[in-house]
Amino acid sequence: MPFTTIRARLTFWYTSLLTLSFLVLGGTGYGLLSYTLSQESDAALRGVAQTLAERVGGGAETFIPAEIDEVFRRFFGFSPLEHYFQRFLPESSSSRGGKLPLSEQALKNASRGIPTFETLEGLGPYPARVLTWPVVKAGRVSGVLQVGMSRENLDKTLRRFLWIMAGIFPVALILAGGGGWVLARKALRPVDRMTETARRISAEHLDRQVRESGAGDELDRLARTLNEMLGRLNVAFQEARQFSADASHELQTPLTVLKGEIEVGLRSPRRPEEYQAILRSALEETDRIARLVEGLLLLSRSDAGVLRMDRRPVDLKNLIEGVIHQVKPLAESHSVKLQTRSVELAQIQGDPDHLRRLLLNLVDNGIKYTQPGGSVEIFLRRDEKFAILQVSDTGIGIPEEDQETVFRRFYRTAAARARGESGVGLGLAIARSIVEAHGGRIEVRSAVGKGSHFTIFLPLST
Ligand code: ADP
Repeated sequence: MPFTTIRARLTFWYTSLLTLSFLVLGGTGYGLLSYTLSQESDAALRGVAQTLAERVGGGAETFIPAEIDEVFRRFFGFSPLEHYFQRFLPESSSSRGGKLPLSEQALKNASRGIPTFETLEGLGPYPARVLTWPVVKAGRVSGVLQVGMSRENLDKTLRRFLWIMAGIFPVALILAGGGGWVLARKALRPVDRMTETARRISAEHLDRQVRESGAGDELDRLARTLNEMLGRLNVAFQEARQFSADASHELQTPLTVLKGEIEVGLRSPRRPEEYQAILRSALEETDRIARLVEGLLLLSRSDAGVLRMDRRPVDLKNLIEGVIHQVKPLAESHSVKLQTRSVELAQIQGDPDHLRRLLLNLVDNGIKYTQPGGSVEIFLRRDEKFAILQVSDTGIGIPEEDQETVFRRFYRTAAARARGESGVGLGLAIARSIVEAHGGRIEVRSAVGKGSHFTIFLPLST
């Protein structure tokens, strides 16, 4: 298809369909008209023949032309000068009164009492329609009548019809083609506008919107869908920007501390213990940076869908015991009681390192955000499909309005910041990524001042 625009294609198809319909309708009209006129003309010829045959049957020997004219006029509404009439008598094979040829077939039919219609050429400028009619007298064929009529009027009428069609067709085609072009342009104008807006949209201008007409039609729905998509892209871009700004900020703090410590160490010669203290502190900062970078890496891999998962059967009871063992010193230093409750056996398919990290993050939070004397408990149960792991604490709790936001990257509640606990706000975001990578989900229930319950659903291995 050589057309590059929808508008041209629509116009092309529109006019093509119109041409086709015109040809089909015109052809059918022509056929019907021709058929009806022929039928009418044949019926009139039959009427003429019948009437004249009755006269012969009644004994008339001759016909005066005025009489014939009168009969033609009765059936055709006019009497053409060039009408045809002739009569054969069985005694003489010659005809009387006319110039019509009598074909063998027509004669044969007539002798058996059957009328015959023929269209004959060469009798005048137009073909003639001739009816050969048997004259029956006292039950037997006593002669033959032929009546005919030039097809001049009929052919002229048909030709006129063709001329009218030929005149109307190009005009209708031009009007339809032009109308189609204008309509297609009008209908597609919103698309042009959308294209123009889309061309102007870039990462910096994702807040721009495609204009909606409000008509509620397909193009309006397309514009709305585009705007929704732009809205989502805008949010995603802003989040990505915010994420890199937050990540840089979080990395900057320990790096500044590290730099400061090294500078202090280099400023003047020191005793070995002092160097050791400086190096220990530097190591802490380096650990912090390493943890941060590791977390960021995990999140971006998870975003890109390339988080490495070393899947194998994991016994969650064992995993819990390992984590408890690991965080026990931290719990003791915070004077928080750490215990497990109703731990059932549950095995899932998963990455043990990621799962350990997930549980560590939750238990670590539980300890960090619980006052001395409080407790952190781990439950493990199972239902038909899931292993359900719950980490509950009796800590500071999370306000209702923050309960969804705490899973966002770098988000920390005001209370958590005020406590001065270490943390950058990536733990829960990482936990959620790990849970989702295992095909599970994480939920939180919490009441300020009473404690929090984080529940994880992980699909059981089948
Ligand atoms: P971090 O602990 O490093 O700040 P997280 O992503 O683990 O980051 O947690 C995000 C925030 O959610 C925390 O800063 C804190 O405000 C809140 N939070 C998480 N766990 C708890 C908890 N067990 N009790 C109260 N608040 C919590």
